[in-house]
This record gives sequence, structure tokens and C-alpha cells, in this order.
Amino acid sequence: MYSPSTYPVADAHVDILYRLYGGEDPADLMASREHLETGNVRILTCAVYVPEEKVAEDPWASALAMIDLFYERVLGNGILLTNLKQLEAFEAERKNRANAPNITNGTHASPRRAFVLSLEGMEAIGHSLMRLRILNRLGVRLAGLTHNPANAVADGVGEPRGGGLTQFGEAIVEEMIRIGMGIDVAHLSERAFWQVMEQDPRPMLASHVASRRVHDHRRNLYDEQIQALIAKNGWIGLTFVPSFISDERPVRLTHLLRHLEHLLSLGGEDTVGIGSDFDGIETTIEGLTHSGDFVTLRETLLQLYPASLVQKILYDNFIQFLRRLWSDRTPVGSGATDA
Ligand SMILES: [Zn+2]
Repeated sequence: MYSPSTYPVADAHVDILYRLYGGEDPADLMASREHLETGNVRILTCAVYVPEEKVAEDPWASALAMIDLFYERVLGNGILLTNLKQLEAFEAERKNRANAPNITNGTHASPRRAFVLSLEGMEAIGHSLMRLRILNRLGVRLAGLTHNPANAVADGVGEPRGGGLTQFGEAIVEEMIRIGMGIDVAHLSERAFWQVMEQDPRPMLASHVASRRVHDHRRNLYDEQIQALIAKNGWIGLTFVPSFISDERPVRLTHLLRHLEHLLSLGGEDTVGIGSDFDGIETTIEGLTHSGDFVTLRETLLQLYPASLVQKILYDNFIQFLRRLWSDRTPVGSGATDA
């Protein structure tokens, strides 16, 4: 019903690695290969999230196991994006494949899928900059400093004292700037958010959040934070986590659209996108239960907004963010030959 050349989707936050690590069957994922194909999700950011119960054990081993699962079970014939050159090559190939009919079977060849790896919380690295660099070498190009609890780097939104970056946290941010790893501010305490904004001159992203003005949830962003991300040419992924979106039940697409409308009203036309949190959630927004439901979201958005804006929200804004993040220089460790 949709040509693969139109309305690709970039989803900047799914927890499939966490699910696979927990033993889930790949076919049962909300972001299963089949659902991703139906929803035309062409770029998928996979979080490396060490669950709280595993932090007490060996979070470094857990993170490495999830990265191994990514390479063994998820990547397939896809491409892991680690630098600008790869991104441009992927985009060129995607457009090409989408437009060129496959001669052998007369149908459109499905474009490949690209992935981004993102560490969610620094628990895995403990107090080690070396581990951060190793993750970078393994292809992890984005990272959030915390999940909800505090850690050695900073306080997350779940830490009542509301502290900011630790001294080690400042060293982490410096190292991330040096090696070219982008910062995801999604779970950070407000204080740490502003400190990171101050310390890191690069564009940054909030991968899976919503508007605190629309719904007062600790994981949502205040207007000032949203405006700061916009001003810094960053990116904001609107999430489908029901509790972030509304207290009403069921949470419906119309509730989600209020957040989108608010983000756009703040000037987010080139900043807002999607970070679904599929496979990281137990309940879902009505009609947005898996990646295949991006079809529904797309149809709804097309009734409300011009096609060009829908394309920006669903895909282009995230690509443009990665371009801005990666354009100033090639990240350390992305390989001299394909840098
Ligand atoms: Zn999260």
C-alpha cells in the first residue's frame, strides 16, 4: 500500500536487545523483523540497557552480551551506522533500491535496514573510561548517562535529591565529546540536563520523552528544555509510553498527538521525531502496539499535516540530526578505511 520509497520511519528507541537478553523469541518482539517491515522502519536505534536487577551482578558482561545479541541475531544483512560516510551511503542505497524495480520478481526490492547502537545508562562501564572507549569501538555511538536511578556519572530523574553530574560524569562527557559519542539526555535529572547542555557544544538528543506541559510526568521535558534542544539543533523522540502521555485510560493516539502538537508549537518542526520504546513497555497506546502500527500513525499524521512535515517527523529529522552530530568530524574508532 505504501511504496518503500515514501515515508520511511526512524525509531530512535527500542528495547529489543533487553528482550532478547531475557530470552524472548525474536518473532514475538513488538519490533520484530516482520513488524518493522510492515511499518517501513528503516532506521532503528537499539538501546543497550542493563536492567536494574542485573546491575548488582555484572553489568559490563550484560552490556557485552546484548551487543553480541545485536550482531548475532538482529543485524542480519543490515548496516550498523557509526559515521557520516556510512549514513550517506545507506541513504543513497535506500533511495536507489526503493525506486528501482527488482527485475527478477517484478516487485520492489526491499531497502536494507540501518541500526544505531545506544547505551542507556553508564552502569555498564562502572568507573572506567576505557570501557566507554571499548563500547565506542564496538559501534555504540550514542549514550544516555543514566537510567532513572543515580549512578557514578549523574542523577537520573528517579533520584529524589535531584543532583547533577558528578566529577566523573564531567570526565565522561569530555571523553564522549573527544571520541564522538553523542549524548542522549532522556533519563537525566533536570540539573544534569542543564549541565550537559552547558558542557557539550554539540547537538544532543532526548530519545524517548514527551511534553511535561501536556502531561506532568518526571520523564517528560519542560518547555525550556525542549526549546534548549531545538536551539542546539538537537532532536527529540516522542515516545509511546502510555504513562508519559496521559493519565486517562485507555491512552489513545489523540493523547499522543497533543504532545506532538505542543512540540511543533514550540518550533519543533525540524527537531521532533519518534522514539517508541517498543519492547521496553508492558502496556501500549491504543492502536500503537507494535512497529507495524507506524502505518496507522502515518495515516493519521497525513490527515493532519502536510506530507513534507510527516516525512520530517517520521524519518528525516533523525537523519538530519545524525548528520549534524557526525558532520564536524569522524568519531574515533570508526575505521580509517571507511571513515
Ligand atoms: Zn528508557
